[in-house]
Amino acid sequence: MSIEIRKIGIIGAGQMGCGIAHVAALHGFDVRIKDISHEKVESGLATINGNFLRQVQKGSLSEDERKNALKLIEGAVHYEDLSECDLVIEAATENETTKKRIYEELCRVLQPHAMLASNTSSISITRLAAATDRPERFMGIHFMNPVPLMQLVEVIRGIATDDATFSSAKQFVSALGKTITVSEDFPAFIVNRILMPMINEAIYTLYEGVGSVEAIDAGMRLGANHPMGPLQLADFIGLDTCLAVMQMLHDGLADSKYRPCPLLVKYVEAGWLGRKTKRGFYDYRGEKPVPTR
Ligand code: NAD
Repeated sequence: MSIEIRKIGIIGAGQMGCGIAHVAALHGFDVRIKDISHEKVESGLATINGNFLRQVQKGSLSEDERKNALKLIEGAVHYEDLSECDLVIEAATENETTKKRIYEELCRVLQPHAMLASNTSSISITRLAAATDRPERFMGIHFMNPVPLMQLVEVIRGIATDDATFSSAKQFVSALGKTITVSEDFPAFIVNRILMPMINEAIYTLYEGVGSVEAIDAGMRLGANHPMGPLQLADFIGLDTCLAVMQMLHDGLADSKYRPCPLLVKYVEAGWLGRKTKRGFYDYRGEKPVPTR
């Protein structure tokens, strides 16, 4: 039997949390989105509205649809505000300790039937599930960035995930008009297992002086027909997330071919995390992105 999902909770009003809230509200779900402060929540809600407005300008959304969707999204700073949710999707920073702390607080207020999902890019669903009071109702639901545009959602079962949770999660993703791919629970699942080593290799190519930022990106855009260069894509994803995924691949698969490039580590240590901090492999503070190397 599947679980009826009406109210969605989202933890983390960053790039992914906002994208998931956007798509869920457009498809008629009630959404509560929580972050660590009022400022973060307000900034997330402003981002979502800005993205809706852009869709209206492009003609892919009507003004009524924008208003109706916006009405369905409420910000939150307390876990109690998520107590009525049937499904909570955690899309907080890619850090296992952070995620486990969130589940500890969250599980205290959730109803027994509620499902919990993580949008993690790389962390074991089985391990995250084991830190909750409901491993059988825990799943990986991995959206792609930007959520409103990307068609794919990876769904990942932990070892304990029951059939009702798995089928409810698939129904929910289908109700958002997305296409599902099922991945087994191994580090970084399918998409990032393949994508991140390519991005990491592009950073090594820069680190070793084989090419400049522009040469590497133009090479892959025009030479391999990728819509974005790998360094541009890394900035878009967030360099902290890229590093966290590479570390998870390296540790989880114990193979030196996944070692994170020291240059990626240096950028993250500098706080140059890509677009979200306005500096990464490109500097976004001016009118046009300028390579930082
Ligand atoms: P982000 O840095 O844009 O946002 C993370 C948000 O989580 C921040 O607003 C932060 O304040 C919030 N947060 C941190 N601790 C919190 C807590 N205790 N309670 C509530 N909120 C908290 O990161 P993102 O790119 O949105 O990534 C979020 C998750 O989605 C990560 O697990 C990441 O691996 C995954 N993901 C990212 C991408 C991508 O391309 N960026 C794609 C797919 C999945």
